[in-house]
Amino acid sequence: MKRIAILGSTGSIGTQALDVIKANPDSFELEVLTAHSNADLLIQQALEFNPNTIVIANENLYDKVQDALQHTDIKVYAGANALCAVVEMGTVDMVLTAMVGYAGLQPTIRAIKAGKHIALANKETLVVAGQLITDLAKAHGVNIYPVDSEHSAIFQCLSGEFHNPIEKIILTASGGPFRGRTAADLATVTKAQALKHPNWDMGAKITIDSASLMNKGLEVIEAKWLFGLKNEQIEVVVHPQSIIHSLVQFEDGSIKAQLGLPDMKLPIQYALGYPNRLKSDFPRFNFMDYPQLTFEQPDLETFRNLALAFKAMEQGGNMPCILNAANEIAVSAFLRDEVGFLQMSDIIESCMAKVAYIANPSFEDYVTTDREAREKAIQLINN
Ligand code: NDP
Ligand code: MG
Repeated sequence: MKRIAILGSTGSIGTQALDVIKANPDSFELEVLTAHSNADLLIQQALEFNPNTIVIANENLYDKVQDALQHTDIKVYAGANALCAVVEMGTVDMVLTAMVGYAGLQPTIRAIKAGKHIALANKETLVVAGQLITDLAKAHGVNIYPVDSEHSAIFQCLSGEFHNPIEKIILTASGGPFRGRTAADLATVTKAQALKHPNWDMGAKITIDSASLMNKGLEVIEAKWLFGLKNEQIEVVVHPQSIIHSLVQFEDGSIKAQLGLPDMKLPIQYALGYPNRLKSDFPRFNFMDYPQLTFEQPDLETFRNLALAFKAMEQGGNMPCILNAANEIAVSAFLRDEVGFLQMSDIIESCMAKVAYIANPSFEDYVTTDREAREKAIQLINN
């Protein structure tokens, strides 16, 4: 029986994780649920799953949540500090980081320091501070299990191969809704078009990242840290059907791939249940439904965010933190119709050029860098 804390239970990953936990009552017990502003859903989840503790990050909603649950013995807390404290509870074995963005960094650090294993969906944490997080995990004997489908695929391919060196990994990318478009096309695409992903139904931020290929860029950096790879060992190939979730090539030239229908419940369940494969009733893949699996080179000139992410990884230090912060601001501005699709790359590139570079950042340096990059990005948007 694993006792689970879910950070971000009201989101796309969070709600699917709850489905997995509900379907496997003998394997998992739910200890902690947290959300930011969706108090109604958090209350409903708390009543259904009866966790020990819940946190609403938005403190203005504390009274509402507390009132709704006062007839239960569920403990209710509010605020960002509470998020960090609940992951340290003695009754928690594993923390699923399913909140979005930089806000996931601090609670993940606190969970690792408390010796909790991490099921990591919040890729931004590894993008911002990959070195710090992987060093901390090593020091505290904590495992980080990937939830991201590509990284789960690689992790599954590596099962039984941990002593065999990797020659390279190949991350697959669907290409998003704008695959094959030119820069001129992208200049006029709308938020509604960008939010329509062909294969996956996800939160708004990652859906925009998928349309701009920033998501794949973040995943390249995520893979570097998860699997201890050199930059040149990571490749991206566009595979529009999203059936092959990623591949590993070993030193004998053999390539292993993991396949399945695009359904996040599988990688979520694999991360929570590792090392066991739990029986599931997820829809099965049928080759006859997919007579062709196709592959293309990613277009790094049109989708500049992917090129910028590779560049940030190569420069190292706090550059991926700058990239991430600028991207978070650019995406939220795009979602408010304040900037166009292509302007997002301009903002990120400009922040990467202007925010001070630090080769060996400390935790405090990341905090400062994140703030400076956000301020710079906001300035660029307002001018
Ligand atoms: P959603 O936007 O659907 O959900 C985000 C969750 O985090 C919600 O529960 C939200 O609460 C909470 N949250 C948002 N901001 C904060 C904050 N500042 N403090 C505390 N909680 C917060 O995102 P997804 O589920 O799509 O993505 C979550 C993470 O998983 C991201 O890092 C994403 O990149 C990654 N991921 C997602 C995949 C997917 O299929 N969705 C696939 C692979 C990775 P509320 O709703 O109450 O405001
Ligand atoms: Mg992914």
